[in-house]
Amino acid sequence: MPGGVNSPVRAFQAVGGQPVFIARGEGAWLYDVDGNRYIDYVGSWGPLILGHRHPEVIAALRDCLETGTSFGAPTALETELAREIVSAIPSVEMVRLVNSGTEATMSALRLARGYTGRNRIVKFEGCYHGHADFLLIKAGSGALTLGVPTSPGVPADTAANTINAPYNDPDTLEQIFAAHGQDIAAVIVEPVAGNMGVVPPQEGFLSFLREITRRYGALLIFDEVMTGFRVAYGGAQERFGINPDLTCLGKIIGGGLPVGAYGGKREIMERVAPAGPVYQAGTLSGNPLAVTAGLATLRILQHPGTYAELERKSARLADGLARAAADAGVPVTLNRVGAMLCLFFTDHPVTDYESACRSNTARFAAFFRTMLSGGVYLAPSQFEAVFISLAHSGEQIDRTVEAAHKAFAAAGRI
Ligand code: PMP
Repeated sequence: MPGGVNSPVRAFQAVGGQPVFIARGEGAWLYDVDGNRYIDYVGSWGPLILGHRHPEVIAALRDCLETGTSFGAPTALETELAREIVSAIPSVEMVRLVNSGTEATMSALRLARGYTGRNRIVKFEGCYHGHADFLLIKAGSGALTLGVPTSPGVPADTAANTINAPYNDPDTLEQIFAAHGQDIAAVIVEPVAGNMGVVPPQEGFLSFLREITRRYGALLIFDEVMTGFRVAYGGAQERFGINPDLTCLGKIIGGGLPVGAYGGKREIMERVAPAGPVYQAGTLSGNPLAVTAGLATLRILQHPGTYAELERKSARLADGLARAAADAGVPVTLNRVGAMLCLFFTDHPVTDYESACRSNTARFAAFFRTMLSGGVYLAPSQFEAVFISLAHSGEQIDRTVEAAHKAFAAAGRI
């Protein structure tokens, strides 16, 4: 396998050493093949908001297995998940299930182009929307970590239709629309950026996106693959009260199995085949096992108090980390929205790609390695989020903060 991995973010290229090979997970614990145990803050990169092997999810999967693994035909289960998404996500009236976040964003943008009859799209520097050609331009996540935000293999003609704008910068976007507004099919945005580290939208930024897209007849697409059912049950759009035209989902709605989804206004979604002419399909889309894990996860997330608990746990971790950094005299900027946070090794505020890139990645690498040897598994990159789950106990969070004291000291020596 290239780099020994099936997804670049899993390699330890940015932090040194070899990736940990995982044997199993239980709650917030992760066990490697050498018998070491870690407190897991990756959570499979976001889906595992309940932790590993939640008993209700596993029981639902066992029952589902008895009925078959895939039919390639309609099932009640997928309808149930579609209904739950429509009732949960404020702007979604119709939804199509796919198999990954990449498929969701790729399909949503095809739909936006088909619906508007325009070709150009606007994305933001440092946001990651999967690996479709036209989205791998100044992209975040592994592309940013590895220093290849614009991938070879993306034809120049394709790249020419993607316009990049700085995150949190209405003035530049205003200029882009003034120059190209009539050709822009859509603006796609992570409403809380999570792929250049965590960068919250500044006050008014999302409402500005809503206003300017409407003004020019372009669609607004929220990529809520990471934020959906995480920063609130109804995603960032519920948390910030902004309704996009289309929404992309993934991660949590599959409960740890491969699922994605895109949805939005009925009038737009009715253009998708076979209701309309914009083609998009999938052999395993709406897969019963994946849908079952997603439904079981969402059912638990609906319990009263769930998001208050996530907030409490996340604040406890964030406060502890900030204190540990201050004790060690290491300047950090801690950004957090709900159960996703990022510790940037910089004393500047981080509001966009450029300010994220000012972080001291050598310090992050030292921090990461000391945390790992102290039994804490973080994403092996400065530019990824820390994901808190309901499975993290107060004791595990306190242990994490204890490990961080040592790790900040190690980072401070760089
Ligand atoms: N959009 C966002 C915001 C993401 O965070 C990711 C993955 N981290 C994707 C899209 C792509 O999803 P997938 O890896 O499932 O293709």
